[in-house]
Order: sequence, then structure tokens, then C-alpha cells
Amino acid sequence: MKNLLKPDYYFKSLYDIDINWLKELNIKNLILDIDNTLVSWGTKQIDERGQMFINNLLKEGFRVCLLSNSSSKRVKNFINNELILYYTGFGIKPMKIKFLGALKLFDNKIDETCVIGDQIFTDILGGKRVGIKTILVDPIDSKEFLQLSF
Ligand SMILES: [Mg+2]
Repeated sequence: MKNLLKPDYYFKSLYDIDINWLKELNIKNLILDIDNTLVSWGTKQIDERGQMFINNLLKEGFRVCLLSNSSSKRVKNFINNELILYYTGFGIKPMKIKFLGALKLFDNKIDETCVIGDQIFTDILGGKRVGIKTILVDPIDSKEFLQLSF
């Protein structure tokens, strides 16, 4: 269990991850968490910084799939480019079925897929359970935590 909670890599922010470094790792597909990874918690749409980051990934030939425990209606609000994939099928992170759904969009290329997220018990654990690489980032802000505290 302990190893399943240990990310393979850590960055302070999604935006610190270097595309060339991903290429060196032979990563071609990214499963991306939304809240507190791509945008601040509860943001309704993708912001400019997130859009630029994803556009750059797509331009460089990466495939990107948004994977969130949010409602499918909300996740779809983040899709403004048909190249951005998303999976809102059955399950919640860290259930394997949720990650397998996203992996299917990447032709089940486990070795070429990486999940990036801010939560050990959803993003990292779920990714580890299906055998993909995992990158932990710090939450963009601590709102999520504060909401749980009150
Ligand atoms: Mg998150």
C-alpha cells in the first residue's frame, strides 16, 4: 500500500513540468486532474494559463485527457478544443475503472501515460493502481482543504 501512495515524481506546479522532460520519459499521454492542478479549486472554466499549457502540449503531439471527480457537466465546461479528451464515465478516482476508462482513450498505452494531480489518495493512488507513471503537484491553493475544515 505504501508504494501505491508514493508519486514517481513531484513538481511544485503543473506549470513547472517541462515538456522535453516528459518526452525523455517517453510520455505521450497525460491524464490531468482539474481542481487545484490545472486551475484553482471550483473554477468554472479553463483559464488562460491552463489553456496555453494544454495547447502547447497538443501542439507538441501529446494527448491530454481531463479526469475529475466533478460532474460531467462541469468537466465539459473545460473542453473548448476537440483535441482535449475527457473521461466522465463510471467511477470516481481512485477507482481503477475510472483510470482504465481514461487509458482506453489512449489505446491502453500504459507505459506512455502519466497522471498529474494534487491529491495522493485520488490521483496518485488511482494512477499507481493501473500501473501508469504519477506526478504529484502542490495544490494551486488551499481552498479545498479549508472547505473540508469548516
Ligand atoms: Mg485536484
